[in-house]
Amino acid sequence: MPKLSDNAMKNAVAQKDGSFDGHFYYGVITTGVFCSPSCSTKAANPENLRFFLDIESAMQAGYRPCKRCNPAGQDERTQQLIDVARYIETHAEDKMTLTQLGNIAGVSPSRLQRSFKDMFGVSPKHYQDAVRMRKFKRSLKEGERVTDAIYSSGYGSISRVYGEATRNIGMTPKAYRAGGKGEIIHYACRETALGFMIMAATDKGVCSVQFGDDKDSLLTLLGDEFPEARLVLSAAQDAPELDSWMLALDQHMSQGAPRPDVPLDIRGTAFQIKVWQFLLSIKEGDVMSYGEVAAHIDNPKAVRAVGTACGKNPVGILIPCHRVLRSDGSLGGYRWGLERKRTLLDMERARR
Ligand SMILES: [Zn+2]
Repeated sequence: MPKLSDNAMKNAVAQKDGSFDGHFYYGVITTGVFCSPSCSTKAANPENLRFFLDIESAMQAGYRPCKRCNPAGQDERTQQLIDVARYIETHAEDKMTLTQLGNIAGVSPSRLQRSFKDMFGVSPKHYQDAVRMRKFKRSLKEGERVTDAIYSSGYGSISRVYGEATRNIGMTPKAYRAGGKGEIIHYACRETALGFMIMAATDKGVCSVQFGDDKDSLLTLLGDEFPEARLVLSAAQDAPELDSWMLALDQHMSQGAPRPDVPLDIRGTAFQIKVWQFLLSIKEGDVMSYGEVAAHIDNPKAVRAVGTACGKNPVGILIPCHRVLRSDGSLGGYRWGLERKRTLLDMERARR
């Protein structure tokens, strides 16, 4: 088959054309899932599609295989190998043995070596090298702005990006203090189940999600956070991604749709990032105390600091800081008002 153009692939997806299955895959940036062209799921906005010629590149960019069309195949063995690849991606800097990896797939080390290579075209060791190299080049390209480098690496799943990046993440205090100097930040407002929401994004990802009673106060909050940036109001047609992320986030809040997998461009101290990363693992309908979070990040005495980090969460709901309470079950604090925290938790409990 000749090289496929983006347009040819967009058409194939629009027509769910099964004759292209196996020739390419498409990822949907708003869900973080990748599919075969013939997948029967509802058509995504063409703007939100990313194309891949093989499963490996889709996975490397952080997409998960779709459960409906199962682009990676029905085979249990295939799924296990994907688990191994995922493990390598999230532990790229660790030493790992074939025995260890074999255990993940439930096969012997030599069997793993063979079947991994059959599927991905490279050995687990080379796969790990490739992941490391990719990360290395990425950071080099971006100089000191490691945080940015992480988020510019693609529209992958937030949790995966965090999981990979824990050791490097953290911003230079200089960049933080600069208040977004020289940056252009697009924003839009929308009415949601929690009142007005403002969402703002740099060219690398969402940098702010806040809630308030009216648009003016939200714009003031945004201006306080990025005093040096140029803030540009974006009409839906000018910023389709921003618009679709806002819609997806509203549906996540009000209807329990999956948390949208949007790229983030957030800055914090290493400690804050660690807390925020952990918060992503608290599932809808669950809650934890500030103390439990502190214990989970191996810093049991940092209860108060955990509370402060929650209060500094730049992206409400996307990082679910509302799921952290006082140990006596009382609500504690919430950056956007206790009433909103209560409403959110009630909605989430009701859907359990
Ligand atoms: Zn699918």
